[in-house]
Amino acid sequence: MIDLPTLERTMEELGQPSYRARQVYEALTKRLATSFADMSELPRSLREELAARLRPCLLEEVETRESPRGSAVKALLRAADGEPVEAVLMTHRRRVTVCVSTQVGCAVRCAFCASGSAGLRRSLSAEEIVDQVLGFMRRAQAQERRVTNVVFMGMGEPFHNYEETLRACRLLNDPGGVGLAARSISVSTAGVVPGIDRLAREALQVNLAVSLHAATDELRSRLVPLNRTYPLATLFAACARYVGRTRRKLMFEYVVLSGVNDTGEQVEGLVRLLKRPLYHLNLIAYNETGGEFARPSLRELTALRAALERRGLSCTVRESPGSEIDAACGQLALPRAGAQ
Ligand code: SF4
Repeated sequence: MIDLPTLERTMEELGQPSYRARQVYEALTKRLATSFADMSELPRSLREELAARLRPCLLEEVETRESPRGSAVKALLRAADGEPVEAVLMTHRRRVTVCVSTQVGCAVRCAFCASGSAGLRRSLSAEEIVDQVLGFMRRAQAQERRVTNVVFMGMGEPFHNYEETLRACRLLNDPGGVGLAARSISVSTAGVVPGIDRLAREALQVNLAVSLHAATDELRSRLVPLNRTYPLATLFAACARYVGRTRRKLMFEYVVLSGVNDTGEQVEGLVRLLKRPLYHLNLIAYNETGGEFARPSLRELTALRAALERRGLSCTVRESPGSEIDAACGQLALPRAGAQ
């Protein structure tokens, strides 16, 4: 996609009236056009001039994989520099959610996450992030459906790419463009404290989720190495500031690793940390990617949830469709060398 300021600048350089910029912007974001050639509202000469200067789609679709029941679709896309980008579409009753990546790889290197295993290659631009959504909007439209939600929970740490992540949120929220409600957009962080404080000050009502995964510093530093920089006390001080300032609900994501972070000690820690108004815990069963961790059984997951609820925690088990196609949490990964 191309943002409006870039289109306005281009039209000025081409000596075109400024309304042409909005025509193109709306064609890209509302009509979901993929090429200037499709924009019959523009004179042919302008379409050709634009095509010579700008790229309306920054990501090329390489491959899509659909789960057997069709509830998840993973798209492998390629950026102009050849870097692979993954995004997922998840359909659950009336909710159609796109999970976007904000980086190629990830510097956080969580112990259980396929995305972080190769480290960070580069951050994505806001346009590259929005293009992941527009691609799935086209697919949904062809099936007479509509994307209802966007979650920034794919590859990468959104707050390690703060400016572009926020610019992408604003582009998605722009009523003159894509037009998704801010409340339908959720940004997830592994706990980058300066990012949480910055988001609390933004005039943008997007939701925030914190990937917690452990309730003691010892275990969390092993699972989410970022915890050594922002330990639990520092992280939860920022969470309290966020809720105090925004009065918005704060979600905590917890990938359950059988026998590792579902122990009595972790339950006690979770109760201590999360028994607060506006805090909500989402339990997600780990999807095995061939590493050292194991997925909890349904019985283990149910027991964990019951133990937490007995202690008064607000908690749900989040379904993670798409594990069959490596599209679930922690499974978006860079293709292995030579697999592109
Ligand atoms: S879980 Fe998220 S923050 Fe952790 S390595 Fe994976 S992509 Fe990065």
